[in-house]
Amino acid sequence: MSQGNVNPRVAIPSVDRMLRAPALSAALDAHGRPAVTDAVRTVLAAVRRDLKPENAAETSESAIAARVDAVLEALSRPSLVRVFNLTGTVLHTNLGRAPLPSAAIEAMIQAAGACNLEYDLDRGKRGDRDSHLEPLLQRLTGAEAATVVNNNAAAVLLVLNTLARDKEVVVSRGELIEIGGAFRIPDIMSRAGCTLREVGTTNRTHLSDYADNIGEDTALVMKVHASNYSIEGFTTAPEEAALAALAHENNVPFVNDLGSGALADLSDYGLPHEPMPAEVLADGADIVTFSGDKLLGGPQAGLIVGRADLIAKIRKNPMKRAMRLDKVTIAALEAILRLYTDPERLAARLPTIGLLSRPVAEINALAARICPVVACVLSEVATVEIVACRSQIGSGSLPVDRLDSAALAIRPLKQGRGEGRIVTQITEAFRALPAPVIGRVQDRALLLDLRCLEDEAAFTAQLNQLSLS
Ligand SMILES: *Cc1c(COP(=O)(O)O)cnc(C)c1O
Repeated sequence: MSQGNVNPRVAIPSVDRMLRAPALSAALDAHGRPAVTDAVRTVLAAVRRDLKPENAAETSESAIAARVDAVLEALSRPSLVRVFNLTGTVLHTNLGRAPLPSAAIEAMIQAAGACNLEYDLDRGKRGDRDSHLEPLLQRLTGAEAATVVNNNAAAVLLVLNTLARDKEVVVSRGELIEIGGAFRIPDIMSRAGCTLREVGTTNRTHLSDYADNIGEDTALVMKVHASNYSIEGFTTAPEEAALAALAHENNVPFVNDLGSGALADLSDYGLPHEPMPAEVLADGADIVTFSGDKLLGGPQAGLIVGRADLIAKIRKNPMKRAMRLDKVTIAALEAILRLYTDPERLAARLPTIGLLSRPVAEINALAARICPVVACVLSEVATVEIVACRSQIGSGSLPVDRLDSAALAIRPLKQGRGEGRIVTQITEAFRALPAPVIGRVQDRALLLDLRCLEDEAAFTAQLNQLSLS
């Protein structure tokens, strides 16, 4: 029989034969029979579809097994992976905001199994999951009471729903903010069942604007911290203490959504001061809400601190049950809050504060060490130089402040036509590394801001896998 008369399909092994093939026994051990069977079927279907007489070799057991291995490998790669955040935005929402310290990771591991989440070990009875966090929050903020939910958006929703359902909430027009990801104060108000009573104007709101709009239907006066923007120039807003006093004269609570909030005085670390829950409570706020994973530097969470009677009501709201924190998050948050009890060592122990206050000289020294390594790997396609840049804090914290930093600027050797495409290729190659490196493109260069590069060895070790085809 001549070669041309062979039906190449005859040579394709059966699924059963492939499952018995020695070349797939390791795959069976690693992934199990159902996954390997599915992958074999997928590959055999593709082989049948693409088969041409001239590449009959592709139907060999070993060639098919190699393709099956590749399919299985792609399917078993975790979706959520570690990345290097070299974007220059320290608290990057898309990259998981605050990186957690080892103390928090250790606590999460401990809590992962059975733990005393809602179990009082002294009395041998049912306990309360807030009990792990409330004493620390009382100590750190001076609040009478505290409770915690999944994020600050949930905290705001829960507070409004508990204290102002079917009633009015007085808010300045300058504070009707959108945080991103569809968190808008007016929408949250209506979802919480409250009516928004806007007062004042975008740039100027006076105490009298609030006073004129507080009435029988008012449930609370709310202030929303302008976290991701700033209103400058001809502006005015009443002192918070005066606003709190006005609310109290009218027998309604004053609620302050701080957004980020800081449990330490950031000016102690050379950073701009960010309002602290303790300060706004001292100014008369009855309830303060803030995030766990912004400047606090912890896991995603929403912290609610303030008056004990109001916190008790908030705890009783059935919505609280739908927003409660998981044990692993509680463990991480408890560990983070403990770090705040020792502010002197905070910058050394808490990555968020450490990275935000990282001296530019240290970042420059790091840049000087790794620039030649990156330059060598990219020598055929790009130049690499150290440039001064500015990092931002991110997550809507301290929006106008920028921190001096240093970046590697990667620019294609080829200038002009096609330059942008090469920048894109390089950017994609960094993103395709086992631990993807995420930078930012600016002025036809890929910038890798080194402020947040901590594991220098892991960064350089994988550079030889950069594939620039
Ligand atoms: C970020 C922010 C929120 C939302 O907090 P998350 O923890 O991201 O849910 C709410 N209010 C303000 C003022 C914020 O800045």
